[in-house]
Amino acid sequence: MREESIKRTKTVCTYCGVGCSFEVWTKDRHILKVEPTHGPANGVSTCIKGKFGWDYVNSDRRVTTPLIREGNTFREASWDEALSYIARRMTEIKAAHGPDALAFIASSKCTNEESWLMQKLARSVIGTNNMDNCSRYCQSPATMGLWRTVGYGGDSGSISDIEQAGLVIGIGTNTAESHPVLATRVKRSHKLRGQRLIVADLREHEMAQRADLFVRPNPGTDFVWLSAVARFILDEGLEDKEFLARWVNDLDEFRASIEEYTLERAEEITGISQDVLRQIAHEIVNADGTCIMWAMGVTQQCGGSETSTAISNLLLVTGNYMRPGAGSYPLRGHNNVQGASDMGAMPNFVGGYQSINDEGVRAKFAAKWGTELPTNKGLDNHEMVHGIHAGTIKAVYLKGEEMGLVDSNINYVDQAFEMLEFFVVQEVFFSRTAEFADVVLPASPSLEKDGTFTNTERRIQRLYRALEPLGQSKPDWEIIQAVANALGAGWNYQHPSEIMDEIASLVPLYAGVTYERLEGFKSLQWPVLPDGSDTPLLFTEGFPFPDGKARLYPAQFIGRFEPLDEEYDLHLNNGRMLEHFHEGNMTYKSPGITHKVPGMFIEVSEELARERGLENGRFVRLVSRHGAIKGRVLVSGRVFGKQVYVPMNTQEAPHMVNRLTGSHTDLSTHTPAYKDTAVRLEVL
Ligand code: SF4
Repeated sequence: MREESIKRTKTVCTYCGVGCSFEVWTKDRHILKVEPTHGPANGVSTCIKGKFGWDYVNSDRRVTTPLIREGNTFREASWDEALSYIARRMTEIKAAHGPDALAFIASSKCTNEESWLMQKLARSVIGTNNMDNCSRYCQSPATMGLWRTVGYGGDSGSISDIEQAGLVIGIGTNTAESHPVLATRVKRSHKLRGQRLIVADLREHEMAQRADLFVRPNPGTDFVWLSAVARFILDEGLEDKEFLARWVNDLDEFRASIEEYTLERAEEITGISQDVLRQIAHEIVNADGTCIMWAMGVTQQCGGSETSTAISNLLLVTGNYMRPGAGSYPLRGHNNVQGASDMGAMPNFVGGYQSINDEGVRAKFAAKWGTELPTNKGLDNHEMVHGIHAGTIKAVYLKGEEMGLVDSNINYVDQAFEMLEFFVVQEVFFSRTAEFADVVLPASPSLEKDGTFTNTERRIQRLYRALEPLGQSKPDWEIIQAVANALGAGWNYQHPSEIMDEIASLVPLYAGVTYERLEGFKSLQWPVLPDGSDTPLLFTEGFPFPDGKARLYPAQFIGRFEPLDEEYDLHLNNGRMLEHFHEGNMTYKSPGITHKVPGMFIEVSEELARERGLENGRFVRLVSRHGAIKGRVLVSGRVFGKQVYVPMNTQEAPHMVNRLTGSHTDLSTHTPAYKDTAVRLEVL
């Protein structure tokens, strides 16, 4: 093959929040190889998804032309026809029911620029704050816990800083499968530098097996053991007194709030022995820096925000902020969860977490956009579904989100989709969600567009177009602009860099971001000052509160919404597999991955298998209060007692785990409590 016919393009992985970057080698539409060489987050590493998960771009399931529903089928349409139809229906619904009858959902798989335009469309063209993105399904509670305590919701340091920690604690994070390259750094430090590793989880995954200490708290009780450890440290006088005096407010209120969490009571609730709780406390205070990583095992609970707050409280009590090798690491799931939220694709904030109710912010946006920001209290994803059932939301424009697989209580979500008067789905594939649409708009995946992503460590990186859009598909930013203009907006962005210039002018966190400063493998971590200087480590000069001090926030324990009972006697846990990404829309279409990886399974403990007479491969049905699925049993030592585990990654309707999960949520953020589900098991 002639070297000059091969194109090498820098891109950023779309499969998790680590944000690995690399060059993709292509010839025509063939992907020859992925070569990591200079990635600021990953160096020369990728995992299996980043290396082999790209063939989906040529899948015959791609949507390559606009589709319009006709009865129970779809017909191909021109872009002009589809855009006119969308503009007419949105205008009619707005005229009949007001702007708040429409709702918009952005995607954490899309670029920052695309999320920005989606919320701009909702706010400045339609006039509603009914705007959200899929961070609502995962990390909103972590952000809430950090806002309450330290003021910024992002990772407090860089991924590479974790290697400097004396102790890493992972809570409810299957890091080796969900954030593999980051896990590799921890594994290396643990093995070569003597870094200590504590894992708290329900399932004995790889990181748990490698840990110096692995604890299995009862489901949904992390808040209790974290609070008990904090109380023990304060009782014993082991707190970082100097740090607390200099940098932290509200110690007395916090101390009173955890009064009830003695070691005895914590043992009773969590099942973790008092000796082990004491050991955790001593490990933290004796370590030269502690980093706590957490993910969906913490956040997807009714008390997800409370537990995230407890994590940050514990870090503050022990002085574990303001230096590399210490701090909070809420590990973002999607590649651009951080960015989609940064861009204001949320109901209550415009870009950079600026309140929609702040008069100065409103005036700034009005001057730039030439329209007033809407004043309604916008709905989040979860409220939108209820709003559809209640008849107040009539139309939804959703991009890049397989809501019909990944939202909780899918049977309820399906009913909502069917009740909509008008539903636009903008997608790369003809997804399950698209089956409910009135119009499907063909979008281009990351390899076919330019833009930026922001990873879990707040690092903004560019991706470049490696392939031309397939068929009539277009990058999402071009489609949103076309929809806005069909509605009379008059936008004229020629390239995503112009959108970023607008973002930088309105969002202080991104003030110094330009495409030139992100050229090639260069990157910036927010906040980025106007002169282009960035912030690898947050909080070096205090916390972003008026007096520069963090706050110990009195949180509260929220118990299980679905405790086990006689009828539903098993706890359902769920999560990712290493090889697949979320619903699997991309990885199941990548032969390099699917040929090697088994489908969905129902993992049960050896104890439960003995009790119920189960063996590997046996078909069983799981039944919850919300629905039922069936699948094959996998007996393993990774799950414990009356807990079962089901991967969330499946394309097959009979196996979708979210037929089992309910509509109950984290109380503060409405993130679904996917991990709080009781089921029974029926042998088929
Ligand atoms: Fe890196 Fe995550 Fe992509 Fe794997 S999935 S290559 S860890 S960004």
